[in-house]
Amino acid sequence: MLWWQASAMIATRPAKGLQVLVIEDQHDIAANIWDFLERRGYVVDHAADGEQGLASAMNTMVDVIVLDLGLPRLDGLDLCRRLRAAGNNVPILMLTARDTLDDKLRGFAEGADDYLVKPFAMTELEARIKALHRRQPPQADQTLRVGSLSYNPTSMIATREGQSFVLTVAQSRILTTLMTLSPGVVSHDRLLRAVWGDGGGDRAALHTHVYALRGQIDRGFPSPLLHTVHGIGYRLAEPV
Ligand code: CA
Repeated sequence: MLWWQASAMIATRPAKGLQVLVIEDQHDIAANIWDFLERRGYVVDHAADGEQGLASAMNTMVDVIVLDLGLPRLDGLDLCRRLRAAGNNVPILMLTARDTLDDKLRGFAEGADDYLVKPFAMTELEARIKALHRRQPPQADQTLRVGSLSYNPTSMIATREGQSFVLTVAQSRILTTLMTLSPGVVSHDRLLRAVWGDGGGDRAALHTHVYALRGQIDRGFPSPLLHTVHGIGYRLAEPV
C-alpha cells in the first residue's frame, strides 16, 4: 500500500456507532447530513426546531450535537446556553450561514465548542465531529491539582473550594493543558493545537474559550489562578 492510500484510509475511517444529534430546521440540509452520516456508520437523530432539539439533547445519549444557529421556537444560542446551564457538556458543533466573527464568538461564549459556516463539505463536517469526539488521552482517573483548583479530565468537572464547575470540551482541553504544564507559560499555538488539532481554530476563538473558562474557575475568588501572558499565551498558577 502506498503512503497516500494509507493516510486516505485513516482520514476517511468512519466512527462506527457514534451518536449524533442534528438540530436543523432546513429539511434538505438535515436530510443530507443524516444520509451522509448514516452511510458512514453513525447513529443519527434529528430535531427540526430548538425546543424539540433541547428535549432530545437532554433525554438521549448523544456523543456530538450538530446545531444550527437560526432555529424556530428556540434559537441555537439559547439552546446552547440552556444545555450548558443544565450541566450538559456534550460537544456542540454550531452551523451558521452568517460568517461573522461576532456570531462565532457569541456561540463560543454560550458554550459551543466548534463552528462551521454553510455551505460546507460533508467530509469537513465529519472531520469536525470526530475531532470534537476525540477525548483527552485516557490517564485513568487522574485528578490534576493547582492551588485550590482540582480537575478531573474524565468527568470534566472542576472543583475549587467546594464549588463545582462542569466544563465544555474546549474548556476541558485548555484547562488540562494549562494544569499539566503549570506553572509554565503555555503559548497560544500550543493551546490552539490542544483544542482544535493541527491547523484549526484561531486566536479570537481561543480567547473567548479562555474568557469563559476564567469565568468558571476564577470568578468570585480573591486570587485568580489563570493569568494572561501578553503576546505569548496563558499560565495557570497561584499568585507569587
Ligand atoms: Ca436555520
